[in-house]
Amino acid sequence: MDLPEPPLTLREQYLVNRARADLKMAQNQERSDRQTLWQRTILPSLLWLVLWFGVCFMGAYFVVWPMRDASLNNRKNRSVDETATNSYTRASSLFLNGQLDSALKTIQEFIRKNPGLSTGHILAARIHLAQGHPDLAIASLREARKTALNRTEPDEYPRTERRSSRSQIPITDNQSPITFQPPHVPMTYAELHRLYHLPFFDLIQQSRAVHQAHWPEREVQLCTLLSIKTGGCSEDCSYCAQSARYSSGVKAEKLMEKDDIMVRAQAARDNGSTRFCMGAAWRGVRMGTDRFEKVIDIVKDVSKLGMEVCVTLGELGPQEAAALKEAGVTAYNHNIDTSPEHYTKIVTTHTFEDRLRTIRNAQDAGMSVCSGGILGLGETVEDRLKMLEILSGFNPQPESVPINSLMPMPGTPLSENGGVDVFDLVRMIAVTRLAIPKAKVRLSAGRTRLSREAQALAMFAGANSIFYGDKLLTAANPAVAEDQRLLRDLGLMPQEPNPSMAAPAACGERACSPSMAEA
Ligand code: SF4
Repeated sequence: MDLPEPPLTLREQYLVNRARADLKMAQNQERSDRQTLWQRTILPSLLWLVLWFGVCFMGAYFVVWPMRDASLNNRKNRSVDETATNSYTRASSLFLNGQLDSALKTIQEFIRKNPGLSTGHILAARIHLAQGHPDLAIASLREARKTALNRTEPDEYPRTERRSSRSQIPITDNQSPITFQPPHVPMTYAELHRLYHLPFFDLIQQSRAVHQAHWPEREVQLCTLLSIKTGGCSEDCSYCAQSARYSSGVKAEKLMEKDDIMVRAQAARDNGSTRFCMGAAWRGVRMGTDRFEKVIDIVKDVSKLGMEVCVTLGELGPQEAAALKEAGVTAYNHNIDTSPEHYTKIVTTHTFEDRLRTIRNAQDAGMSVCSGGILGLGETVEDRLKMLEILSGFNPQPESVPINSLMPMPGTPLSENGGVDVFDLVRMIAVTRLAIPKAKVRLSAGRTRLSREAQALAMFAGANSIFYGDKLLTAANPAVAEDQRLLRDLGLMPQEPNPSMAAPAACGERACSPSMAEA
C-alpha cells in the first residue's frame, strides 16, 4: 500500500521551485550561447569568406584577364608592326640602292606575311617596272587594287564615315584595324623619266591601276577659286597677269569686302563646290598687318560654311601659318611651278628656296599642302620631271597637286608661248598619279583649251580634282553647267567636303621635307 507523500513544506516548495527556475535559466543560457556563437562568429565568417571569393573572382574575370589579353595582343601587334616596318624598309632601301632582285625577294616575303597591305604590291610593281617587266608590274598593281578594295587599314585622310555612307566598299567593323603605315618611298628622277617615256597606253594603264587602288570611289573634287585681291603684285612671275610690272590690263584692286566674299562662297557651296580657295596677289603676308587680320577674319567666317578652305597668299612665316591654321584653313596652296633650274628664268623677285620655306612652314603648322606646277613655261620635259621628283620627295607629300597648263596672258613675257600638247599633259598627270598616289591631282588652269574627251582622258589617267566656276583668278574656266554635264556623262560624282580633314602625316622613316636647310 502506497503511503501518501508527506506534503512539502513551504521551505521545500520554495527550494524545488528555485531549482526548477535555475535549471530553466541554465538551459536558456546554454541555448542562447549556442545561438550567439553561430550568429556572431560562424555565420559572419562564412559570409565574409563567400564575399571575398566573389570579389576575387570578379576582379580576375573583369580586370586581370582582359588586361592580360590586351597585353598579349599589344605585344603581338607590336611585333607584327615592327617586323612589317623593318622588312618593308629593307625592301625600299634595296630598291633605292638598285639591288632589284634582293628588293623583290624581300617585298615578296613582306607580302606573304602581310596579305592585307596593298603597299607591298605597289612596291613590287615598281620593282618589276625597274626590272623591265611591265606585265608583272600590272599584275602586282591589280593585286594592290584587289587588296585595297578589301582593306581595313585606316586612310591617311580620315574619310571613313563619308566612305561608309557612299562607297560600295564594305567597312568591316568586326576586324581590328591594322595600324601599320609603311614609309612612302619617293620616286627618283630616273624612275619618273622611265615611266614618262613608256608607250602612252602602258603608262595610263599603270596610272589607272594606282588611281583605282587609292581612289576607288568615282569621285571628283570640285574647287572654286576666288581672287580676293587682284592685280598690283610686286613680283615678276613671267606668266602672271597680276604682276604690276606688266601691262596686262589687269587693274590693281583692293582686298574684297568680307560680305562680298561670303556671298561668293555661299554661291560656290550651293553650286556643289567642296573646297573654296581664296587667292591674293601679294608677295606674302605678315602678322600684325591690317590685311592679314582681315584675311584671318574672312577665313574664320568662310570655314563655318562646311567647305574645305584653301588660301594662297604668297610667302608665310611660321607665325602666319599657325594663325591661318587656327582660323580654319584646311590647305595652303603654294606651287613650286617648275624645276629649280628653270625657276630662275621665270621669276627673279623671289627664289625657289623661298617657295620651299613657305611650304615647310605650312606643313609645320599642320595645314595640308597643295603644291604643283605649270606646264608651258618654256621648260623641258626634264624640268617637269625634276619638279615632280621634288614634290614626290616632300615629307609629308602634298595633299593635292595642281597641274596647270599656261594660259598665255597678253602683256606678260610668256604671252607668245604655245599651248601644251594634250598627250604631254595626260602623261604628266599619269606620272604624278604614280609618284604621289594619295594626292588629289588637280586638272587646273588651261581646261578651257581641252575638249571634253581630253578632260575625260586626263581623269582616266589620274586627275580627280578640278577648278569649278566660270573664272580662275584672271583666266577663263569652263562654265559650271558644262562641268556638271561632263561629270554626269562620265558617271562621276562630286566628292563630299571634309573640312576637318587632317593633313597627311609625315613618314617617320625619313626627315621632313622640304627641310629648312634646303629652304
Ligand atoms: S603669281 Fe602670285 S606672286 Fe607671282 S606675280 Fe602673280 S600674284 Fe604675284
